[in-house]
Amino acid sequence: MEKPTIKICYEKTIIMSKPILGIIGGGQLGSLLSVAAKKLGIKTIILSDDPDAPAQYFADVFICGNYHDKKNINDFTKLVDIVTYEFENIPFEILDSIHKTKNILPKPEINKLIQNRISEKKFLNSNKIQTTKYSLIKDKNDIIENKNLLPGLLKTTTLGYDGKGQFKINNINEIDDNIDFSKEYILEKFVDLQKEISLVITRFDKNQYEIYNPIENIHENQILKYSTIPADISEDIKKQAIKWAEYIAEKLNYIGTLCVEYFIDTNNNLYANEIAPRVHNSGHLTINAYNISQFENHIRAVCNFKKIETKQLYNARMINLIGEDILEYRNKKLDKNVFFYDYLKKEIKNKRKMGHVTIIE
Ligand code: ADP
Ligand code: MG
Repeated sequence: MEKPTIKICYEKTIIMSKPILGIIGGGQLGSLLSVAAKKLGIKTIILSDDPDAPAQYFADVFICGNYHDKKNINDFTKLVDIVTYEFENIPFEILDSIHKTKNILPKPEINKLIQNRISEKKFLNSNKIQTTKYSLIKDKNDIIENKNLLPGLLKTTTLGYDGKGQFKINNINEIDDNIDFSKEYILEKFVDLQKEISLVITRFDKNQYEIYNPIENIHENQILKYSTIPADISEDIKKQAIKWAEYIAEKLNYIGTLCVEYFIDTNNNLYANEIAPRVHNSGHLTINAYNISQFENHIRAVCNFKKIETKQLYNARMINLIGEDILEYRNKKLDKNVFFYDYLKKEIKNKRKMGHVTIIE
């Protein structure tokens, strides 16, 4: 039977009206997503457990409360049409409970797979994407049995970021007595790094992507410090990095922006280090270097907006302002090609990302 006309009109109205976007997490990525959403006329509601979360200054509505509190989750879920998230360390059960009534993109199963370093690497290897060699570690003895992976990095399988929860182990005599084996770890063979790059990609639908050029990254103390576009890499490495990122996005049936972090070793081998199922720090420079940023493309994809050809306009460098680095920039007169972002975090802390600057050239 044909649908009554009135129903068709109603569906059209729904498709054409702008959704209210819920964002879980209130850090700088949440702020920059909210800014991009505003540009598209989309209202954002941030849910964060941090009363000082900086994204509250950029979003339309801010809900503060524990992620495990069902009332908070219900209040948030009722108010939004679509949900996305700015960090991956959210328990699967919480995302899954929201997903029962409102669409979450990227899908909760994708986040579950990626938030554990072991399942993430298994997924990559099962798709013939090279990673560094690794093993699951439950106690000190497991490290000794895997001494072929030394020198290596011991990382917690979950909840790590910016190098948190990581221990460098050069040999079996050097196993730190402070390691808390009530948690599970992954031991990764240390890669002799020539350089690190990242590939930011937004997938809209089957074989529908916008891909940013590879970005070259320099870390200090395992925290990203500098990003540059374009990365100084061979055409072969560039092609491989793009191919793998497309393959990952397609295989995951991913909607939104994701980032693949890569290592290149001194013999020019490419390894996928990790996948971020979200916008990424290295992609901050896309705000100034591209016609459409990684944030805007993420919003466009999750809100089912039209895909627009994404073009690089400038080469660029990004500097992360960590801890007290921010102070100098707060009072500095800047050249026209320098863009300063202050995340408006309440307290300056050592190793805390406080802001960034992008220099276009
Ligand atoms: P995080 O989740 O903290 O970003 P990563 O695995 O990306 O964790 O590690 C942070 C940084 O530490 C990397 O960008 C890289 O500079 C260094 N690192 C991590 N693993 C290795 C490794 N196996 N070999 C060499 N360097 C590594
Ligand atoms: Mg990383």
